[in-house]
Amino acid sequence: APTTQIPAVEDAYVAVPPTRPLAALDAREITAWFGERKVLDRVSLNMPAGQITALIGPSGCGKSTFLRILNRMHELVPSAQLAGEVLLDGDDIYDPQRKLTDARRSIGMVFQKPNPFPAMSIRENVLAGLKLTGAKASKSDRDALVEYCLVRGGLWNEVKDRLDAPGGGLSGGQQQRLCIARSLAIKPRVLLMDEPCSALDPTSTRVIEETMLELAKEVTIVIVTHNMQQAARVSNTCAFFLAAQGTPGVIVEHGDTAAMFSNPQDQRTNDYVNGRF
Ligand code: ADP
Ligand code: MG
Repeated sequence: APTTQIPAVEDAYVAVPPTRPLAALDAREITAWFGERKVLDRVSLNMPAGQITALIGPSGCGKSTFLRILNRMHELVPSAQLAGEVLLDGDDIYDPQRKLTDARRSIGMVFQKPNPFPAMSIRENVLAGLKLTGAKASKSDRDALVEYCLVRGGLWNEVKDRLDAPGGGLSGGQQQRLCIARSLAIKPRVLLMDEPCSALDPTSTRVIEETMLELAKEVTIVIVTHNMQQAARVSNTCAFFLAAQGTPGVIVEHGDTAAMFSNPQDQRTNDYVNGRF
């Protein structure tokens, strides 16, 4: 198999960015198409600063598409088209005056399947989250950043004595926390998580939930989950997405999570949260 040339960490990375203030994310009238096919129809959702917002709903209703639109990652699909606005603390991330990298540097993403660089060390995995820009960080700055990210990712105590071990040697749950740590290296203001625990066992899932609850003090979190108990345990606000046969996804109901689970206003939400879908 071909080997990838990875730049030496010493030479490559920017100085440690400062911690940034909490930010809200506000999606307004998001309509999305893949080619001719409309997959989201005028979806609006406010994701308050410092809270955890859960996106729930059946497969195929547009949750992942919506999440990717929140940091412009859907632009990687050439057929994707978008109408609407996404405001990060009031600034439209789609403003043509703004660089794409602005949005990506403020809004991190963690995926369903843990995807650390397996051959790279734990330390290098964390530092790989920084962009190559030419500016260099001192060794002590890099060490401080690695510790900061691994502490926030809930992994520091388990790996602090083996930071040079390969990321691929960790358990699945640890790998996912390493990915969370890596996403924190840019000091994001918002962290998007697409079913981050779906590939993990219940114990690892609970550890990640605890990590998220701690992290929400510093980073606004938006999580897609199929696990209703998880949505109830971690989120402050919840949005229920649905796409009726052949129609684009919409938000049927959103609001305070506890209220939505105990007293859903829409019969379809009631059916879904009670497992009748
Ligand atoms: P969810 O995450 O809720 O399961 P998705 O956002 O992945 O839903 O998908 C929403 C709809 O968009 C689905 O009908 C899916 O088939 C379609 N879709 C997703 N990604 C693409 C793509 N890259 N190209 C074309 N259609 C896509
Ligand atoms: Mg999805």
